[in-house]
Amino acid sequence: MSETIEKVKCLIIGSGPAGYTAAIYAARANMKPVLYQGTQPGGQLTTTNEVENFPGYPDGITGPEMMMELQKQAERFETDVRDGWVTKVDFSGDVHKVWVNDTKEIHCDTVIISTGASAKYLGLDSEQKYLKLGGGVSACAVCDGFFYRNQEVVIVGAGDSACEEAHYLSKLCKKVTMLVRRDEFRASKIMAARVKNTPNIEILFNTETDEVLGDGQVVTGVRVFNNQTQEKHEIPATGFFVAIGHKPNTDIFKDFLNLDETGYIINVPGTSKTNIEGVFVSGDAADHVYRQAVTAAGTGCMAALDAERWLAAKDSTFEVSTSTYN
Ligand code: NDP
Repeated sequence: MSETIEKVKCLIIGSGPAGYTAAIYAARANMKPVLYQGTQPGGQLTTTNEVENFPGYPDGITGPEMMMELQKQAERFETDVRDGWVTKVDFSGDVHKVWVNDTKEIHCDTVIISTGASAKYLGLDSEQKYLKLGGGVSACAVCDGFFYRNQEVVIVGAGDSACEEAHYLSKLCKKVTMLVRRDEFRASKIMAARVKNTPNIEILFNTETDEVLGDGQVVTGVRVFNNQTQEKHEIPATGFFVAIGHKPNTDIFKDFLNLDETGYIINVPGTSKTNIEGVFVSGDAADHVYRQAVTAAGTGCMAALDAERWLAAKDSTFEVSTSTYN
């Protein structure tokens, strides 16, 4: 049974940089946003150590710290930040219906989706151990590659992302060993050619990860095996990068929103609008190309502005706040 239905002017789903930035803008525009944090408050950045590429932090900041600052900033303007997991939506009518934890029903004038994407991992115990310790496992070369300057790293994957990230790492690291599980790349020819032609990238085909090795604190190497011969060997490395794809967190929207074949929400180009009036998207849920905290924050801002303008056009009693544009 549902509790009493709550009415909300602007509901934001997700608590990464996109969600909090949307909240800051929506709150300053009198939209009284309610933000549900989801199962991983703070989003993907909470699994990152140091963030050095977000403008405004000259000395860097840890991912969890940055997310706490963003939350504080959103709350300063009275965003109602809540624990809770949106489990179901119904965007079929004029009122956008959202259910939290399968029970609480909310009717929303506007919805901003900032549910992000999750990097896929291999799932090995040793990989998860060093990921949680922040000891050398990463799914983002652009975020973390800098910490491995002049060191040797291993990267898993054979798609465009893996090639792009291996190439990025090759400019920073002494050596990059790329593990490809089949005897060919999935990546486009041009991307594959780029890694093949980079002297400090060694590609091992038919090769998979047996175990991420470490000293209990940080990664020291990777034991791999050839899946044709079953032969094993160890590769010294201080970083283990996983680039085997991302999964956008958009399953609950698939009956209503246009998604691409991987599940990313398709937005109207140059805007945060989806195919449903009053429903907007920001951050990695719609972005398989850039996937950066700063681009997510930028699209969070766009979503709040689009939602505000949409609301103002629909409801003459709602005043567009000039503070948004200060
Ligand atoms: P993809 O799904 O294209 O590739 C994933 C890769 O990871 C595949 O090579 C796959 O191997 C490998 N893989 C999956 N699971 C495992 C595992 N358990 N162990 C080892 N390897 C594994 O993901 P991407 O993130 O690379 O790309 C997603 C989309 O984004 C694609 O459409 C891509 O073209 C696009 N993209 C475009 C870019 C650009 O144009 N600049 C940059 C980055 C992405 P296998 O091949 O054997 O299945």
